[in-house]
Amino acid sequence: MRKPFIAGNWKMYKTVAQALELVAGLKQTLGDVLTMELAVCPPATALAAVSGALAGSNIGVGAQNMYWKDEGAFTGESSPVMVKELAQYVILGHSERRQFFGETDETVNLKLKAALAHGITPIVCIGESLEQNKAGETVSFVGGQMRGAFAGIPAEDAAKVVLAYEPIWAIGTGLTATPEDANRIIKEAIRDVLTAFYDTATAEAIRVQYGGSVKPDNMADFIVMPEIDGALVGGASLKVDSFTAIVKNALAALK
Ligand code: PEP
Repeated sequence: MRKPFIAGNWKMYKTVAQALELVAGLKQTLGDVLTMELAVCPPATALAAVSGALAGSNIGVGAQNMYWKDEGAFTGESSPVMVKELAQYVILGHSERRQFFGETDETVNLKLKAALAHGITPIVCIGESLEQNKAGETVSFVGGQMRGAFAGIPAEDAAKVVLAYEPIWAIGTGLTATPEDANRIIKEAIRDVLTAFYDTATAEAIRVQYGGSVKPDNMADFIVMPEIDGALVGGASLKVDSFTAIVKNALAALK
């Protein structure tokens, strides 16, 4: 059984004070949730404070990016060694990083290997553009991202990876894939590729989140889909009420 996992990607929002206020609220509303894995991914500047505030709680902490080298002259970057001090998870290959900061399948692969080597759980984001979607290229494109990300990674490491299928056109737009389409793409472009790359057991062990305008009122429709194991939530993770409602609605739908 794959444990459901909902993570909040705060992107470039929240000062330290705002971050601490948000996690104080989440500890109150979600502090007793044990049947679902939960995490928040604050900006790098708030990681230390949030990590301290959530220490010993059921809510994990993730970074939004990291470099693949342990240390060195790489101004502005954070290394896996540094991330590991503050976080259990790291988001890799988010479409905003691919679009604005030159992230490629090759750099995602290097970062993925580094995260696994350091015992950080990677949340690897993949997903197609609107043009690719309209051209019917989603399965081949996402499948290609998968093959690039997992190149050279052995099955026992692959099983520790979390994937987030996030159609780019659904991120921050209020549009979503239909739960049925998301479920089918995860099957055809993710699990089938993992089965071919590794084996069925590995493909079935890996958790796949859906991301793209997840809100309290649509979470249940996604989480009941057999291939969808949770969500990566952007905008709606920035408020206690909406993130709490997403988690509670997912829990209720799974009962
Ligand atoms: C994201 O940032 O990964 C995301 C899915 O954002 P949103 O929920 O705002 O669409």
